[in-house]
Amino acid sequence: VTRVLGIDLGGTKLLACAFGAGGELAYRAQFPTGRSFGPGEALALVVQVADAARSTLDGLDAIGIGFPGLVDHDRGVARSTIMLDGWRDVALAERVARATGVACAIDNDANTAALYEAELRGARELLYVAVGTGIGGAVVLGGELWRGRGAAGEIGHVTIDRAGPSCACGRRGCVNLYASGTALATVAIDDAAAALAIAIGSVLNVLDISLVVLGGGVVERGAQYVDTVAARVRRECFEEIGSRCTVEAARGGYDTAAFGAAALARHPRSAAIRPSSSA
Ligand SMILES: [Zn+2]
Repeated sequence: VTRVLGIDLGGTKLLACAFGAGGELAYRAQFPTGRSFGPGEALALVVQVADAARSTLDGLDAIGIGFPGLVDHDRGVARSTIMLDGWRDVALAERVARATGVACAIDNDANTAALYEAELRGARELLYVAVGTGIGGAVVLGGELWRGRGAAGEIGHVTIDRAGPSCACGRRGCVNLYASGTALATVAIDDAAAALAIAIGSVLNVLDISLVVLGGGVVERGAQYVDTVAARVRRECFEEIGSRCTVEAARGGYDTAAFGAAALARHPRSAAIRPSSSA
């Protein structure tokens, strides 16, 4: 696999980035989406950008898609999302492969972002936290994404306060209620960073990972947020772990999830659905 197209299919935009055989960014395009952006519309737009990437690169070998919700990576199925209406068990990879004639792999968008940030650094262990409208996360262990059964990395639902407000997940006091972009309208940035640091510290205490990468819209807007979280994480976990841990911003910035989707397409152990297998 050489020429790849990475797509970040989000709640507000679809960002497509295509890379040539030498790894150079050859094509980049962005389109608005929105809550009503359904599977049919998404498929048509993916076909359009695949055609554009194919003509720019004189061919296309694989497509990767980052999806903002639960994904069955092995089967290439977008299971559900709270960001977009009309998505329930959509065989997206198969539909894209069939419509474009190109192999397609999909994964959760935080997973694709984590894959990119890990590959960029040559990191074998990494905790990725995306702070946007909500809070998502992903874990890389032993050089591979830890997907669990598809829902691993949901750090946004680590409990900060059992008596806290109700969360959409049905529980109370989840960290995304205190530290997401949505919460930052009402919560001071220091308090948000403190809440996020508690959640990150809890995860680090279990996994003893040496690198935490923060991405998402909130992080792109303020380096101060990363610094504040970094300082507090060291206080919120076992000293032996916190003193040897680095917290930094995603290097891919706004494009991290799309770049990661391209990395997913290129990755030898991705579960790509091929056009020939989608009979
Ligand atoms: Zn929750």
